[in-house]
Amino acid sequence: MQADLSADLITIGIDIGGSKTKIGLFKRGGQMVAKHVIPTGTKETGGVLQAIADKLHEVIERSPFGPADIGGIGLGVPGAVAKGGVVVECANIDMKEVYPPEEFKRIMPELEVPVRVCNNANAAALGEMFKGAGKGREDILLIRIGSGVGAGIIANGKIVTGFHGLSGEIGHICVNPDEKTPCGCGRYGCLEQYVAEPGMVRAVQRLLREHPEIPSPLRVFREGISESGAEVPAGLIPPRMKAKDIFNAAYNGDEIADFVVNQASDMLGNALAFAASVTAPEVILLGGDLSRAGSMMIDRVKATYQRMVYPQLTGIPIRLTALAGDAGMVGADYLIEEQIYGSDRV
Ligand SMILES: [Zn+2]
Repeated sequence: MQADLSADLITIGIDIGGSKTKIGLFKRGGQMVAKHVIPTGTKETGGVLQAIADKLHEVIERSPFGPADIGGIGLGVPGAVAKGGVVVECANIDMKEVYPPEEFKRIMPELEVPVRVCNNANAAALGEMFKGAGKGREDILLIRIGSGVGAGIIANGKIVTGFHGLSGEIGHICVNPDEKTPCGCGRYGCLEQYVAEPGMVRAVQRLLREHPEIPSPLRVFREGISESGAEVPAGLIPPRMKAKDIFNAAYNGDEIADFVVNQASDMLGNALAFAASVTAPEVILLGGDLSRAGSMMIDRVKATYQRMVYPQLTGIPIRLTALAGDAGMVGADYLIEEQIYGSDRV
């Protein structure tokens, strides 16, 4: 790390994920100077924020700068964050009814810096606005697809949290009222059930079962069958099907994969048309697994969107995100830089 770092304030952008936490150190203007990845803390290791504090102590100790050079901390969390910054609840990590600015004051009293918090889909949207595919725009709808489907909404350069911190739960709008299998949320027919990885895998497996006559390379993932197609001896686990396997198969012309990818694309395109009618963004950004699908899926999403949306909104560009795994950290840094320097001087 360069010695002149201490000339400027260092801000810290943190992206807390279900298993990994990414910590970025930034100079003013979102210039990342260091990045650290640690396992997300658990109850057993003293908590999520304690794990971050431990790492920060270590980083500061080894750096040419001290606690006085740290300007603030921005934090993206995988859950609902209410308007004032209280983390209401996170699905997969141990954070509930926590107010991180107070917590940091307690566990890192020497820092005395402002701390700002947002949901990590919102942080990703801020990151893309700051340094990525949404640069220069102030009204952005970002959809992330992975094990679930989430959205980050930016209006007039500010994130929209909603009163309870639950804005952007686009994964749980109902797209199929006839669905018989419940979603993780308890309802039936949510977008997430068809577009997120587990939903696509489930759809492929169902079709493979219903159509034994259709040959498909995806049958190697069937329970009890090895990659070579032979029966797997008891006790051995067959490989787990992933979204990328489905995209690959569809790309190579597999009938079942093609059907499932098209179905997911149509449902997503339709959902984007709904969402665009509500938020009227300047640009729609798609990130997560979808960026691995290549043009095949995004072209179909765009075509469905164009067909379904209110005619005056057809011109909204739909693009892939640009920052990949760093978006949340960069956005968390923006959140705190905005507070320190003001949004027009970051
Ligand atoms: Zn749901």
